[in-house]
Parts: sequence; C-alpha cells; structure tokens
Amino acid sequence: MFIGHFAVALAAKKTVPRVRLGTLVMAAQWLDLLWPVFLLLGLEQVKAAPGITRFSPFDFVSYPYTHSLAAVVGWAVLFGGVYFAIRRNVRGAVVLGLLVISHWVLDWFTHRPDLPLYPGGPKVGLGLWNSVAGTLIVEILLFVIGSAIYLKTTRTKDRIGSIGLWCFLVFLLLMYFAASFSPNVPPQNQLAWGALSMWIFVPWAYWIDRHREVRT
Ligand SMILES: [Zn+2]
Repeated sequence: MFIGHFAVALAAKKTVPRVRLGTLVMAAQWLDLLWPVFLLLGLEQVKAAPGITRFSPFDFVSYPYTHSLAAVVGWAVLFGGVYFAIRRNVRGAVVLGLLVISHWVLDWFTHRPDLPLYPGGPKVGLGLWNSVAGTLIVEILLFVIGSAIYLKTTRTKDRIGSIGLWCFLVFLLLMYFAASFSPNVPPQNQLAWGALSMWIFVPWAYWIDRHREVRT
C-alpha cells in the first residue's frame, strides 16, 4: 500500500489535533521510510518480479527488520516512547504507536503472503494486489476519506496552508499513479533510492500543518 498510509495519517489528525501532521505521516510511513535504508545496508532484499501480483511487480524477498509483525511492534513502542519523552502527551504517543502498526495491517491486506510474523517466522498477506481494480478502489477511497477528515479538522491560516496542502495531495496521487503504471521495474538499488525520496513528504507535511489550525 502507498497512499493508503498517508490517508491514515491525515485522518489521525482528528483524534490527536495537537500532533503535527509531519509526525503523523512519519509514524504511518515509518516502516517504508526505514526500508530503503535497510535495503541499501544490504540487510533486507527486494527483487523485480513482474507478474508476481497483478498490481505490484516486486518480490519482497526478505524484510524482517522493517516488516515483520514482531519488529513492527518494537518500532511502534519506540516511536511512541520517543514522542512521549519529548512531548509528554500520552494520547499522542499511543496513537502514533498505533499508526506505526496500522502500516503493517494495511500491508497485510495488500501484500501476497510475504510479511513475516517474526524474523524467520510464517509469512502472511491477504493479496489485495492480485486485483488492480480492487487495489485502486480501496486505496483511492481511503485517500479521499483521509484527506476529507484532515480538511474538516483543520482550516488554513494563509495561502500556503491551502495551496501547500493541495499540492501535497495531488503530488502524492500523481506519484502513486506513476509508480503503479510505470512499465519499468527498477532493480533493488534504484528502488531503494526512489523510496528514500519519500522522506520529502515528512518536512512537507510539517510545513503545511504550521500554516493550518485546528477548527474549533
Ligand atoms: Zn510497507
């Protein structure tokens, strides 16, 4: 899943309005933000395998540190713990931890059974990616709902708050379509550098959020 994770981050603003959108995006995307780092370090592997699912042409050969359920629970505790240490906001910390776990749950719906329960353990995945239409419908629907919730929860303070947000949403959608329908299937290193570029959305989300305020 790709924009579905952003949808969850946008929607979470309603539950924890004091937490910055950048932090929410970082939590919901945390596993995929770490993943390219582990790929480049040679600790995890992915392989181009066109046709392995109808939607995604990648074989996630091994990613125990970023995408095994046991490791994800550890990352969630760490993420929530660090946030609590800095902000002393229990509710925020809990929601951020749940956002980290939500990434795995959404991936569990979409991936074929390639997500380990623990490193070396049995692999699970419900395989939504075996349906192109199903994947697009679910993910775009989530994205529209998440965006609508964020728009309803906050209002803009200036033009950056509205233009910046709309650019953010449209750019994500365009990236999603480009990645989904690109005929070229990059090898591991190229994919990892591409995935690293997703970090740009974290400061971008902080920037938008600073130019918006919670509706009262
Ligand atoms: Zn993922």
